Amino acid sequence: MSAAQRAGSSAAPVLLLSGYELGHQPLGVAAPLAWLAAAGIAAHAVDLAQEPLAQHAQAVRSARWVGISTPMHTALRVGVQAARAVRALNPAAHISFYGHYAALNAAQLFHADADSVLAGELQTVLPQLAQAVLQGTWDAQAPPPGVRTAHCPDAAMPTRNTAAELQPQRTGLQPLQCYAQLRSNGQLQLAGYTEATRGCKHLCAHCPIPPVYAGRFVAVPVEAVLADVHAQVAAGARHITFGDPDFLNGPAHALRIARALHQQLPHVTFDFTAKVSHIAANAALFAEFAALGCLFVVSAVESLAAPVLQALHKGHTRAELELALRTLDAAGIALRISLVAFTPWTTLADYLEQLAWLRANDLVEHIDAVQLGIRLLIPPGSLLLREFGNAAWLGALDAENYCHPWTHPDARMDALWAQVSACTAAAARSEEDARTTFAAVEQLAYAAAGRIAPAPGPRLRPPPPGLTESWFC
Ligand code: SF4
Repeated sequence: MSAAQRAGSSAAPVLLLSGYELGHQPLGVAAPLAWLAAAGIAAHAVDLAQEPLAQHAQAVRSARWVGISTPMHTALRVGVQAARAVRALNPAAHISFYGHYAALNAAQLFHADADSVLAGELQTVLPQLAQAVLQGTWDAQAPPPGVRTAHCPDAAMPTRNTAAELQPQRTGLQPLQCYAQLRSNGQLQLAGYTEATRGCKHLCAHCPIPPVYAGRFVAVPVEAVLADVHAQVAAGARHITFGDPDFLNGPAHALRIARALHQQLPHVTFDFTAKVSHIAANAALFAEFAALGCLFVVSAVESLAAPVLQALHKGHTRAELELALRTLDAAGIALRISLVAFTPWTTLADYLEQLAWLRANDLVEHIDAVQLGIRLLIPPGSLLLREFGNAAWLGALDAENYCHPWTHPDARMDALWAQVSACTAAAARSEEDARTTFAAVEQLAYAAAGRIAPAPGPRLRPPPPGLTESWFC
């Protein structure tokens, strides 16, 4: 099947672009494809993580409305390059950016790259916007409710869905074989991706979701979630990632989803993302999650240091982290960890303590090496700026990189970050063994403190299951 056949007519008036979605088949275009189809609007979709835009020149020339999905920082950067390529080929096209990172960076995007920006629950507003452009009724000074323009930069973003929940349209996208797979017990299995909730009820200061959803979340009906799962299983998936911002924002809903999945598709395994405090508070559920097929849980540990957790408003403590780990261990579910390893508040002692904790619990293979070098990202719309906008360590907006740079008060930390990120990037390129990379990072960190790194400890755990694509934002 050619790219044009796969992704809809290349002469369609609407073009949807996805830059990057963590290695998953992009839900950020599959869902809008369904909303547009229901409104009778033909659309062509391209996942730029799989195919260059140059292969879709006809679709670019034909498009009158171009929607660029930006759920992550990387997707925004890829999307901006794509928008500039679209402008060069088709200057008359209306370009919209949609998703969390579009909302955070709207003011910057309006300088040149975006005609409009939208985020939140877009089932109704996205087709309305496309329709307005296609029918010639678009007015930048009076856009549809929920759409931001340079003239209306503060329009409220929709956080409730009043439309029917449509099944994402995946038939036009690249097959699951092209995307991240489950690696478990030395075997690879095709994996699908869906969401049982959107938004989040928490307000962590570094997260892109609260500026859009403001502490709300929306539960997707069980039947709608299962319909999307069935479509992906029919396409070959044997494992499903529930990529909700937090699967346990509604624990009863999560359990209903997991029970229905296991009842209808008992051979399908799954993973989900949940915050540390939710794992600790819902410890009683995990034996059942394991019995229903849960293989691993991704959790944003971020840091072990209380000052860092407080600055991020993470809402968990190290004691809860220890309880969450014991809970998952008791259930036989692997914990996969993400970190914000470098922040202005993380001391060198904190960084060493974090490595020591990972080593002592033999979680070395439970964390993608790239996480050891993750540096706090502060985009223009970040909630962090409310509290730390005047901090001495904060730099002015770096417009080209869509974030505020910052300088650590201890110069050793910025030097260590540069070394660790170079080390983990090289390790990822060469597909180095996780334990080797971890030991190399330990060498760098202990050297920064003028100390000798400890000798590698014994293996205490089997290799954990995980996806073949490293997580990063
Ligand atoms: S719990 Fe997770 S998704 Fe929710 S605000 Fe915090 S970091 Fe974001």
